[in-house]
Amino acid sequence: MDPSAKPATLLRGARQARCIGCRAALEACVCDVLRAREAPFALHVRMHPNERFRTTNTGYLAARALRGRVHMGDEAIPAGALVLQPGARPLAPADAGAALVVVDGAWRQARRLSRRLLTRGHCAVGLPPGPPSRYALREGPPPAHYSTLEAVARACAAVGDGEAARALAALPAAFVERALAVRGMPS
Ligand SMILES: [Zn+2]
Repeated sequence: MDPSAKPATLLRGARQARCIGCRAALEACVCDVLRAREAPFALHVRMHPNERFRTTNTGYLAARALRGRVHMGDEAIPAGALVLQPGARPLAPADAGAALVVVDGAWRQARRLSRRLLTRGHCAVGLPPGPPSRYALREGPPPAHYSTLEAVARACAAVGDGEAARALAALPAAFVERALAVRGMPS
């Protein structure tokens, strides 16, 4: 598709035009494979300010791929919300419908933000054991070594929503392949 035919926006501070739908670089747009599914939980994506313009950021994509109670901004997180964190007790089907906070950022930033949330009385949850990420753009222990999109996909599976999990799991391959192609790297 001709990239100029896609809806574009130049975010303040971004160096290149981004797709207004998925926020990927225009050439890496994955809107054609995006099919929003009902979120099996209230999803709160908390993003470090440094993340806004990073091409490896998949937080926007995770929020776009789900509909329903999906919050990307600074909306208040309800009391007793679950914060996704490495090493915590795994999410289970009984957690469906809960508020789930996913911190989107590089490992150190994410850890700092998560700790701050946990001191406010929210509970840490982890992801059940699974295969390592095939599409890691970042390093760190699980779930930090998953992209935010993969972490949310695995969280959907953990609470028993296989359909949403599969829809989200299909996106990382497209996103990473296209993002790497834009960077001029072999995928
Ligand atoms: Zn797009």
